[in-house]
Amino acid sequence: MLSADGVLMKEASNVREKQSVGTQTAGLSMQTAGLGTQTTDRRLLAVNEISHKSNTPPPRSLCPHRLPSVLPADPPAMKFYGPIIPNKIADQYTAAYYQNIGGYLGYRLDVNLEKRLLLIDSATLLSGFKHRPGAQTWIGEHVGKFLFSASKTYAYSHDERIKHLMDDMVRKYIACQMPDGYMGTYLYKDRWKDWDVWAHKYCIIGLLNYYSVTGYKPALTTAERAADLICRTFGDQPGKRDLMLAGEHNGLAPGSILEPMVDLYRYTGNPKYLAFCRYILRAYEQKDGPGIIGNLEKYGVVTKVGDAKAYEMMSCFLGILKYYKLTGQEKYLTLLEGAWTDITRHRLYVTGTASDHEVFVKAGVLKATNDDDMGEGCVTVTWIQFNLSLLQTTGDPKYATELERSVYNHLLAAENPQTGCVSYYTALQGPKPYRCDQGYSCCLSSVPRGISLIPEMIGGKIKGTFTVLMYENGEAATEVTADDHSTVALKVKSVTKFPADGKVDFEIDPSRAAAFTVNFRVPDWSANFTAKVGNDSYPGKNGQLLAVNRKWNPGDKVEITFDMPIQVLPGGVSYPNAIAIKRGPQVMAIDKSLNKEIGAINTVSFSNAKELQTANSALPADWDWPEAFSADMKINNIPEKVVLVPFAEAGQKSGDVEVWINR
Ligand SMILES: [Zn+2]
Repeated sequence: MLSADGVLMKEASNVREKQSVGTQTAGLSMQTAGLGTQTTDRRLLAVNEISHKSNTPPPRSLCPHRLPSVLPADPPAMKFYGPIIPNKIADQYTAAYYQNIGGYLGYRLDVNLEKRLLLIDSATLLSGFKHRPGAQTWIGEHVGKFLFSASKTYAYSHDERIKHLMDDMVRKYIACQMPDGYMGTYLYKDRWKDWDVWAHKYCIIGLLNYYSVTGYKPALTTAERAADLICRTFGDQPGKRDLMLAGEHNGLAPGSILEPMVDLYRYTGNPKYLAFCRYILRAYEQKDGPGIIGNLEKYGVVTKVGDAKAYEMMSCFLGILKYYKLTGQEKYLTLLEGAWTDITRHRLYVTGTASDHEVFVKAGVLKATNDDDMGEGCVTVTWIQFNLSLLQTTGDPKYATELERSVYNHLLAAENPQTGCVSYYTALQGPKPYRCDQGYSCCLSSVPRGISLIPEMIGGKIKGTFTVLMYENGEAATEVTADDHSTVALKVKSVTKFPADGKVDFEIDPSRAAAFTVNFRVPDWSANFTAKVGNDSYPGKNGQLLAVNRKWNPGDKVEITFDMPIQVLPGGVSYPNAIAIKRGPQVMAIDKSLNKEIGAINTVSFSNAKELQTANSALPADWDWPEAFSADMKINNIPEKVVLVPFAEAGQKSGDVEVWINR
């Protein structure tokens, strides 16, 4: 500790020297007196945090130089501060950014805001920056991950409370930047080991997201200075460090900084960042690198890339995809589409996640107990990001199918609606191990990110045509091009009880009568999908977009109806003697707390009945989300009714959960 303190003090004295030449790092030399005490008032804690070891008087604010006197005011309509360098490949899907999302997804967006994001404690997340070294080696990632979730949530909700929390966090965070741009939580002597570059990745991601919704320039500047340090430190020129050796998993972890480097190039136009992106792509293929491109070209399977670590690999995919969009180099898209096919065919659980002990394993092997550490939350979320990015890039609705699968099942299963606590791994078999800590587990910061992306998935324009992708209550406003090439303002509103039933009422409200097309995604699990407009009926084909082209008048109504036949899913290689039940997009589960007559949960067996009866009365009064069904099954071979709930809702009161049911 003494030597650690010594280095800390050395760094602090550097800071003070630099301060005299105008570098603004007021927060760094502070020793926290109040951290770890039971202070609950954040403002009080901030006052405690500025007690000094040095003789310099404490500044009046943690970051007096960097703050404008008034923080950016909330614009009446959300303004986005986007990149200045356009992509060569234009997005084929652009989200309509739905508002007032209600129903099932709206309820979970509220849980994520009220019970998770608003309860995040800045002091915990910032502790590793204020007291280097941090409590553990990856504590530095959480601020950036929070800022991502909070920025997306603020863009959707315009909620002042989350804005205030972000503003406060960002002010304190950027004050922790070292004079040379360092934004990690390590001592100088230990820099660039383990998760240090990785934390810088999340620093840039978080600050760019915050900048994009506030226009707050110091956030962008801080990100640039952190990236400049990375660019100065790593490279394949003499005297520079090898990025692939600066972290875990054969370079997959540090190499994933490609994603925000592409973004930063697009936000600033600084060619240095583009050059660094090219270096990262070369480094992937070095002898000590993960061989992402080479191995995908040669084998086409993700298990051959690096050490097959799923979260870090797909984090690299996000960067490669962004690089493809920037440059138009087709081979990258082709390889990533191949990786996507490999994952969906061989390595995806029925609930839309992957990974066993955090890696991609053998084809079809999808073990699903708590002992298998299956479905890491970070993997679910990065898989969702990968699909959303592929949807944006190509406009292919097959990616929306995967988004629906993951969101309605594994993503929402990983956050307890009762408490806002999150599970690291979420097994299909057994209780869900929800945890409430902050600033420790990667997944606890990742799962809220996935939920914060939901407003971007519900619908938008595919190749210029308004397209409904998910069936949820909400409102969207956009502009479309009419058949006569004129521009029409369009509002779309949907009202539904889905996923309780398959009826969705749309109002299609153009600013004036005009002929154009509206697309509706026809889910692969649906039957008899029909759109009715007045006396006209349009039948849909599963897995495709139903294009309804007609002359639309202001206030036109569309009634979408579809059946939700019960699917019985085979247990595959890992559960050959079991089945799972799926209704619409939702995989169902037995929750033992709702089936008191069951002794051991594996005494239940499926008896071929494909009917589910609504059984909401079986739920306790304080159960969140009223959706339960009863099914004819057997308990110890005796016919009995068994209560099923969506897997995403199961286990919310700590009950034992079972998706794979013996047959
Ligand atoms: Zn994780």
